Amino acid sequence: MALFAVIGLGSFGATVATQLMSLNHDVIGIDLNKKYVENISEQLSHAVIADATDEHVLDELNVQKCEAVVVAIGEDIEASILCVLHLKNMGVEKIWVKAKSKAHHMILTHLGVNKIIHPEEDMGVRIAQSLSYPMVSRYMALEDDHFIVKIQIHADQNGMRLHQLMDHVPEVRTLMHKRGDTLQYSLDPHLILQTDDFLVVEGLLEPLRRLSKYFKHA
Ligand code: ATP
Repeated sequence: MALFAVIGLGSFGATVATQLMSLNHDVIGIDLNKKYVENISEQLSHAVIADATDEHVLDELNVQKCEAVVVAIGEDIEASILCVLHLKNMGVEKIWVKAKSKAHHMILTHLGVNKIIHPEEDMGVRIAQSLSYPMVSRYMALEDDHFIVKIQIHADQNGMRLHQLMDHVPEVRTLMHKRGDTLQYSLDPHLILQTDDFLVVEGLLEPLRRLSKYFKHA
């Protein structure tokens, strides 16, 4: 269990804060807006109405003791940057900041922020990916062009043997097969696939794109 601070309790900040609480962490939530603080106060370890651009406020709240601080101030870029500067001066090592624009992102990079988040863009990319590759139920990027992908088997592949599908892309590794609650890691290439099975595969974008062509009716 760790202590986190979330500064800015708009919809993004509030979601981060309540999720951290549900993962059994302690969270200090800070926002200028009384209504936002009141709405969430019972769900957080500590919720305060305060101006996070004031370093004395951050100091009094012991923000430097936090494992990480999330700055989720969106529109007011000046406030976001000032707050990050104070956190840096206080020696907070892990700072995650929601960025609103390219200029904001550039300044945060220069300030040495560990993690810069663009929730709207990230969600946009994910939605475009799911529309473009409907058989992909989840994915994780290991590098820019290297992914682990969870694929749902559709009626078109029902009855096909695993190797009949995966032989098209020998560069892609099949890590796991899931049917209902049963997970299998050492896979028989002759395994017969069924609709609604899942495969977890790993590979580079180019062969994964080729694999997606065998799911055109997904
Ligand atoms: P979301 O999309 O997550 O709802 P947003 O990107 O539109 O938010 P804003 O609404 O601009 O972002 O800011 C998020 C929160 O940050 C707001 O609740 C706002 O009151 C708070 N905030 C802005 N400036 C400060 C500050 N100086 N100190 C503390 N909180 C602040």
